[in-house]
Amino acid sequence: MKNIKDYNIDELKQELIKLGEKPYRAEQIFKWIYQENVESFDEMTNLSLDLREKLKQNYSLCIYKILKKQVASDGTIKYLFDVLDGNAIETVLMKYHHGYSLCVSSQIGCRMGCKFCASTGIAFVRNLSSGEIVEQLLAVQRDEKIKISNVVFMGIGEPLDNYDNVVNAIRIINNQKGINIGARHISISTSGVVPKIYRLAEENIQCTLSISLHATTDEKRSSMMPINNKYNIKELITACKDYIEKTNRRISFEYALAKENNDNLEDAKRLVKLIKGMLCHVNLIPINKIENGKYDKSSNENILKFRDYLNEHGIVATVRRELGSDIDAACGQLRRKNLT
Ligand code: SAH
Repeated sequence: MKNIKDYNIDELKQELIKLGEKPYRAEQIFKWIYQENVESFDEMTNLSLDLREKLKQNYSLCIYKILKKQVASDGTIKYLFDVLDGNAIETVLMKYHHGYSLCVSSQIGCRMGCKFCASTGIAFVRNLSSGEIVEQLLAVQRDEKIKISNVVFMGIGEPLDNYDNVVNAIRIINNQKGINIGARHISISTSGVVPKIYRLAEENIQCTLSISLHATTDEKRSSMMPINNKYNIKELITACKDYIEKTNRRISFEYALAKENNDNLEDAKRLVKLIKGMLCHVNLIPINKIENGKYDKSSNENILKFRDYLNEHGIVATVRRELGSDIDAACGQLRRKNLT
């Protein structure tokens, strides 16, 4: 059965026409799904019994089961969801003073193979569909009885390796009759799939783009992130400049600091040279050591020196506050989990 949450509003209108129904019903259905967050078609009481029956016969509502829920000492919550085919994914809810932010997964596993990331080393299974991405928000909103205000595609997977489904999910999340989260409150993080960055610039979505840069020479970046062998730093930065020019949106560069690897002043100097003058800021992430990982967290002293050097040389840089590290919910700690 098809997952009704895979359709954006225009596609759902087409589906209703196929069922011999009026297209405006799509708006009513959207409201039930995304604003009322119902768990069955029977609850859609302004639709005729006949239409509810047709919907039941043709579509599923893809309601996730919570396999595990862990709450960190700082209030961060990590969910393990059963995506209904025997696979499981992780999603993390973070509470900030300005609201709730949800870190969603876009794939079951990941193909990028970044050496410092816990999602690496576990077989890639498949892409998540748009509905499966969107259901992460709905399941958390139902469970915690809250309204999420920010979404970051920083969970398991490379969002631009699942481009169509991720962009469609954003359209549903962003739609006023859908979850209604402003595009500026939605961030996509990418390891640097250059052709897809050019494509995203043409989509007319005002979402924020984060680039996982992490190094300033091709040699170092390739040793940390195999994708750099395919699209090197120069090509990546050129694509970022195109993105900024076309969208007028500030790019966020992510830089995970690992001791004696990419955290000395020479790296900071090269970073300034690389991105100076671009509409951007730098998010410094103290790297989280993963099981059997070869990278260790930089010292606090080095992290602050690195940040200060950037700030003193005209680059806005902040150190990301780590949330949920005691439940393995911080950056790069998410993994695909089997149900067994
Ligand atoms: N695939 C996407 C999104 C996933 S991860 C991407 O690569 O951008 C979100 C961020 O956490 C990325 O910047 C990623 O490089 C970073 N990250 C991964 N593992 C990490 C770790 N062990 N410590 C700190 N940051 C990590």
